[in-house]
Amino acid sequence: MPHSTDFITSIPSLLAYFKTKGIDHTKTHITGIMEHPFPLLIPTYYANLIDWYDPHDPLRKMVLTDNLEKVELPHELDDPIGDVAHSPTPGIVHRHSDRCLLMLTNACAVHCRFCFRKNILDKNAADLGKALSYIRSHTEIWEVIFSGGDPFMLTNHTLQKVVTTLRSMPHVKMIRFHTRTPAVNPQQVTPDLLSILKQSSPCSVVLHVNHPKEVTNEFIESVKNMQQAGVMLLSQTVLLKGVNDDAKILEELFKKLVECGVKPYYLHHLDLTKGTNHFRTSIAKGKEIMQQLRANVSGLCIPEYVIDSPEGYGKIPVFWFNHTSEHTYEATTLDGKKIIIQSNTLTK
Ligand code: SF4
Repeated sequence: MPHSTDFITSIPSLLAYFKTKGIDHTKTHITGIMEHPFPLLIPTYYANLIDWYDPHDPLRKMVLTDNLEKVELPHELDDPIGDVAHSPTPGIVHRHSDRCLLMLTNACAVHCRFCFRKNILDKNAADLGKALSYIRSHTEIWEVIFSGGDPFMLTNHTLQKVVTTLRSMPHVKMIRFHTRTPAVNPQQVTPDLLSILKQSSPCSVVLHVNHPKEVTNEFIESVKNMQQAGVMLLSQTVLLKGVNDDAKILEELFKKLVECGVKPYYLHHLDLTKGTNHFRTSIAKGKEIMQQLRANVSGLCIPEYVIDSPEGYGKIPVFWFNHTSEHTYEATTLDGKKIIIQSNTLTK
């Protein structure tokens, strides 16, 4: 586990970091930025990638608290993707028959200011015994997806124990980890963690990466190490206003990922989490970006553009939605369920 000194956890500790780096805080435009109930958490490694004199630095936007987070719109939600309604026991979310989420930690290596679970992260406390019994008794579960929080924040002891238990269940064929750690603090991908990933085989790791500046030499090194451990590597990216809502930026990101052997898997339309409207792009803009990518970039670099429905149906391709009236998008699922999304809830 990393040392607490490897992280910036408050505005005073950010100021202390500036001091050690010789950064003149009076030129960083952070005056007046308030602490937030979802506290600041920035790995020092990630802080070193930020140009702190540029208030529009995309990495800074993703991690520095913003007073706009206090602006909560009536249609924004604490549980924007309907986790709670699909949780049969603490720590499990089971929406689709052949796979379930296993959420064993609330901890992350970074606090993303747009986090879809930021208002319920501390309510995710799992009962490990009950969660594993649930998976054992549901033999239709083919894949277990470690989510969170960030599963790479679990102690190696816990991770090892859980992986060993899952591997004793013949119906669980695949193990998947969703993590942002390699993009924000790649040195946490240690030899011990790699050895657990190897024992999890066959397994996949879905890397949460949002900007080409996150694809550093250290990130690429951690990717290579995971590949050598036999891991299938995919990525997911959140579409964020002022960070990556631009076809050129996403082209650069997706090409860099493919060049190091990571297949772009999902581009997420931002969920309706409370206090995140300043990050939200419109569906129309997202579709336009995807059309530009499709026209100009190899299909290897094209992820699926999806939206998680607030009812908890799961990920739905955005191109399934038709714009049915000025404010309404509608899609019909395979089982005939109509999903209606008010477009004014998805645009600023
Ligand atoms: S890493 Fe994921 S769960 Fe953690 S704060 Fe970021 S978006 Fe939320």
